[in-house]
Amino acid sequence: MQVVLPRDYARRIWRAIIEFELLTEGDQVLVGFSGGKDSSFLLYGLQALKAKAPFAFTVGAVHVDLGFAESSDTQLLESFCRDLDIPLHIERTRIAETALGRGSQNPCSSCAYFRRAVVNRVAVSHGYNKVALAHHHDDAVETFLMSQLYSGKLETFSPKSHLDQSGLTVIRPLVYMRESEIIKFINTLSYEPMPSRCPLQGKTYRWKVKALIGELTRENEFVYTNLAAVMRAGGPMELWPPMASREEMREKHQRIMRP
Ligand code: SF4
Repeated sequence: MQVVLPRDYARRIWRAIIEFELLTEGDQVLVGFSGGKDSSFLLYGLQALKAKAPFAFTVGAVHVDLGFAESSDTQLLESFCRDLDIPLHIERTRIAETALGRGSQNPCSSCAYFRRAVVNRVAVSHGYNKVALAHHHDDAVETFLMSQLYSGKLETFSPKSHLDQSGLTVIRPLVYMRESEIIKFINTLSYEPMPSRCPLQGKTYRWKVKALIGELTRENEFVYTNLAAVMRAGGPMELWPPMASREEMREKHQRIMRP
């Protein structure tokens, strides 16, 4: 397979790599490969960049089969990785049963937790030093709004984070790619991404937030870009001060009520 990225796509992935210092000489990068469009694009993109990179790094892939009733069609994934000349590790698990089982309070967060643990274990046991995840710009903006709405926090995931326990570094080279661009590119390949087999697909908070941002952005094109601008530290922000403590309130009360 000839592995070539459009120049603008390559430029934006390189921008993320350089700005957030995601890759360096000798890195061994393991990509979390669900078989969906985003992780397929990440594998393809890293392999395309590797050919022209000014330093050497290696790329591998790990597919975690979550254990839904219909298990992953790994032949498709194997042939995609073979064409890209990327080694693929396949891990069969029963994460779905645990995360979505009876009594599970937060299936998506349990699912993500266990899946990350498997990816990290494979990375450490095969000598990879970095784990690459395929979260793109839309994911970051959606997570930013979700955190505010459902956790009361002003935060999103970081393009790069270090895991003290395993010594691994997690990188997200697609943070400057829009989802629509990834879909457009994947549609040009003779490759059909694997559909999700999760029964919660389309029913999660993430999907609600994605639909909400999409709807508001159709009404006003600046909604998405405004959210994205606020997501950057140092952006326009005028927040209330932190809640005053009892001590501070007592002191203010004294000052204002009994001058
Ligand atoms: S939607 Fe399904 S596969 Fe995705 S995180 Fe939630 S439980 Fe896991």
